[in-house]
Amino acid sequence: MKSLKILLVRPHPRLPTSKWLQSMICLEPYAQELIAAAVEEPHDVQICDLAVTKKPVKAFKKRLLEYAPDFIGFGGFSSQFCVNKDLAQIARKLLPDAVTCLGGIHSSSIPADCKYPDLFDLIVRGDGVSAMKEIIKALETEQSLPESDWIIPTASPRFDALAQKPPPAIHSDGITMKPRRDLVNASDYFCICYGEAGQKVKTLFPEIACVRTSVGCPNRCSFCVVHFLANGKYLQREVESVVDEIASLEQDYIYFVDDETFINTKRMQRIAELLIERGVKKKYISWARSDTICKHPELFALWKKAGLEFVYIGFESLKDENLAAYNKNATPSQNRKAREILRGLELNIHAALMIDPDFEEEDFLTVQKAIKEMAPAEFAFTVLSPPPGTPSFEEARDTFICADPCYYYDCIHTILPTKLPLKRFYKYFAILYALGAAQIPARVNKVKMPLRDHIRFVMAGMKFGWQLMTMYRRYDRQYW
Ligand code: SF4
Repeated sequence: MKSLKILLVRPHPRLPTSKWLQSMICLEPYAQELIAAAVEEPHDVQICDLAVTKKPVKAFKKRLLEYAPDFIGFGGFSSQFCVNKDLAQIARKLLPDAVTCLGGIHSSSIPADCKYPDLFDLIVRGDGVSAMKEIIKALETEQSLPESDWIIPTASPRFDALAQKPPPAIHSDGITMKPRRDLVNASDYFCICYGEAGQKVKTLFPEIACVRTSVGCPNRCSFCVVHFLANGKYLQREVESVVDEIASLEQDYIYFVDDETFINTKRMQRIAELLIERGVKKKYISWARSDTICKHPELFALWKKAGLEFVYIGFESLKDENLAAYNKNATPSQNRKAREILRGLELNIHAALMIDPDFEEEDFLTVQKAIKEMAPAEFAFTVLSPPPGTPSFEEARDTFICADPCYYYDCIHTILPTKLPLKRFYKYFAILYALGAAQIPARVNKVKMPLRDHIRFVMAGMKFGWQLMTMYRRYDRQYW
């Protein structure tokens, strides 16, 4: 049996907006850590996280030459596909015999875009853990590359036919493996957290670990790629294994990286009870839907007791008709009530709102007014964009205003035409962020934080504001 050296690569961000986001929140490469867990002796595995490397290309070349892997697996978002292509080209030059593979969201959702046999030997759609096991089985016995709905060699005559199929059903391996955190440096990963009212915090950017308790989502929000990628499935992990993992972690802060954590409220109740019973003292950040919060306020009170500190909510829109059009299954009054419940529990809120490319001045002004009403909260505004590979993306294809909509798919760059000229659209968009930044929980609640963190937040905010104000220049002049 051939013993293999496997390198799993998380690419660096290229869009300035993604770089800014990463200066505020940088989570561990959880997907690579899970896939690494599928590699058993006598094989060896390393993770190359270029997202936390100052000179990523130089670092990547150095790692290739020092480690000389037999297999290189790239992952990442659609906006990083071009970065992965560049990295694969470097790998091809330096290690022409290594097998190269592309996985992650882009190859899963829009595989037809990834047919580059000169760069990638195969692509993986969906769960990378079970795919890794299959690939290792073939490579260790020097057989030809596996071929199936979810592992597709780019040179296969069946590539086009297989790439036409919807993403394959998700596999439980994607949540049951124990992530190989030993392969990364824990101190590289952080998330902005705002502390509690009147409290003094050591830092605004504490070290944080990720935990995934489930994958997929039974909801069908039209703008979301999750149900498309998970092929409609929703898988959950055993509560004991979730609690064991959390209890074993050194970090004080845990970020739940589920697609939607609080779907099964009974299960989430049991996890909180077990954490309390076992005396696990951590602080938690999680997404939750406003309808879940309204229906189960007692669950969030229990989680507050267990350590929940920060709740991310996709409010999406202030209007009933938009929420109905997005198939969100929530209403503005539920959104308001959910905010009140969380505020009553003194939990910090991350309020995510979508800006429709059809917005006119008055729509922006309505959101501006709502910011004060919704404060204190961390606000995140995104531009409504169809996710690559989904039917809505294909329907909108003829209307895209950029040559490479996948590269610009970060939900800050619009890929659809805007009703307002882009310069005005992004001026108003930048104003929303500026108003939102003044309403963050730490500021409103008078949390004492180190001066250096305050300066870091303000400087990053100014940089991002400038990026937004000049965003229109990235598009063809006809849209300015
Ligand atoms: S509830 Fe969240 S994860 Fe589920 S489909 Fe809607 S936006 Fe996506």
